Amino acid sequence: MTSQALIQDFEAMLGKENVFSSEADLQSYSYDSAVLNPVVPSLVVRPVTTEQLGKCVAKLYENGIPMTVRGAGTNLSGGTIPDKSETVVILTNGLKKILEINVADLYAVVEPGVVTADFAAAVAKKNLFYPPDPGSQAVSTIGGNIAENAGGLRGLKYGVTKDYVMGVEFFDATGALVKSGSRTVKCVTGYNLAGMLVQSEGTLGIISQAVLKLVPPPAASKALMAVFADVQHAAEAVAGIIAAHVVPCTLELLDNNTIVRVDDFTKTGLPREAGAILLIEVDGHPAQVADDAAAVEKVLKANHATDVKVPKDADEKFKLWEARRMALPVLARCRPTTVLEDATVPRSQIPTMMKAINDLARKYRVEVGTFGHAGDGNLHPTFLCDKRDADEFKRVEEAIDEMFDIAIKLQGTLSGEHGIGTAKARWMEKETSRGTILFSQRMRRALDPKGLLNASKIVGI
Ligand SMILES: Cc1cc2nc3c(=O)[nH]c(=O)nc-3n(C[C@H](O)[C@H](O)[C@H](O)COP(=O)(O)OP(=O)(O)OC[C@H]3O[C@@H](n4cnc5c(N)ncnc54)[C@H](O)[C@@H]3O)c2cc1C
Repeated sequence: MTSQALIQDFEAMLGKENVFSSEADLQSYSYDSAVLNPVVPSLVVRPVTTEQLGKCVAKLYENGIPMTVRGAGTNLSGGTIPDKSETVVILTNGLKKILEINVADLYAVVEPGVVTADFAAAVAKKNLFYPPDPGSQAVSTIGGNIAENAGGLRGLKYGVTKDYVMGVEFFDATGALVKSGSRTVKCVTGYNLAGMLVQSEGTLGIISQAVLKLVPPPAASKALMAVFADVQHAAEAVAGIIAAHVVPCTLELLDNNTIVRVDDFTKTGLPREAGAILLIEVDGHPAQVADDAAAVEKVLKANHATDVKVPKDADEKFKLWEARRMALPVLARCRPTTVLEDATVPRSQIPTMMKAINDLARKYRVEVGTFGHAGDGNLHPTFLCDKRDADEFKRVEEAIDEMFDIAIKLQGTLSGEHGIGTAKARWMEKETSRGTILFSQRMRRALDPKGLLNASKIVGI
């Protein structure tokens, strides 16, 4: 329990309307989008200025109170579940100003609580482009995107959030303001602390401001939907497109289970009999787009695509892409528990990984729907089950254990974009080394001697 005196201090600092201590409010911040047990925090505070954010952190540090920072809470690895019941949650959704969009120098300066899609739309109004587009972009925040290094449907060609972070300001565990990076394309002043904050999952500091790179929008684009009778052929087509040295901006895969479930819900008219579909978009100069689209179609046909469709207009394309974005929410409706994974492998290994996932589903008698950013090697096998059925959940956990072993053997990684949090912490050493864990823990202890910032996440201190 947070003391009444401390609650009053926060109320004086932030206004009563930004301090939440009722049981119902606290319950709302006890979980996020991962399948993990909730932990109810002792208090939730919502600073609305940078100065207030710094003061909150300093106050909590002074009092030795654990803190978890939270944007929209859409992360899938438990990053915003409080460590303990004493934890205070710092909400950043009150820090939502786009401070600058600089069209001459191609950057923007934003507060951490700005919603990703709102930011991309504001940038588009100035005829510029912010490419990172996580499936959650309608609600996720820039702070959460940086702290998770979020990817999206355009990661293959345009990269992920880290590729757009030019600078970051953040408060360290004590509440001191740290600045790294700048508004210039090049900056080597001091350590790359902005880079260190990327994918730090709220464990190294609390981001208060970011400078983000913008790019000119592509002049033209062409979207395609390729239909395959067999998911293996689709996986081989993905590897084939990359091997042909064509880099589409989007190359997404949906397997049959995902297609049918999504189509049931969205009524998009997806090819329900298909073993898999690929959603592909190439963009750039119109001549390049035509060449790339032709090269892609050649690879698709060589890999037994039964149909290649071009959406007839922007509306039809939007519906297809929206169907892809609905994959997770729709699969999550099917059974009481959804375990979404994001094991990622080098692109040439996508066919092997896809086969392994389907073999594991049969071996452990579990239901899986697989979709994902196949062009990045980033698949999202989604296990549909009921955690209350101990036998079924054990089989799911065994299948996931074996899947990670396979991904690592294929030179892949545990997580392409969803982060480690507490959900995947136990596998960290398997992919890295004992030395990596100890180094990370030493770094955290040096920067956060009281162990207050999201202490149990990633490696734990
Ligand atoms: C339907 C759905 C689709 C998704 N699709 C994608 C996808 O395509 N690609 C992808 O990469 N992810 C995806 N995600 C996962 C998630 O949306 C991303 O990780 C996103 O970046 C989280 O943003 P958030 O604002 O919700 O952050 P939160 O969940 O609130 O926080 C995430 C982490 O960042 C930390 N954090 C938040 N704000 C700050 C800050 N200001 N300073 C320091 N640390 C901070 C938190 O402590 C936590 O550890 C999806 C999730 C859902 C539910």
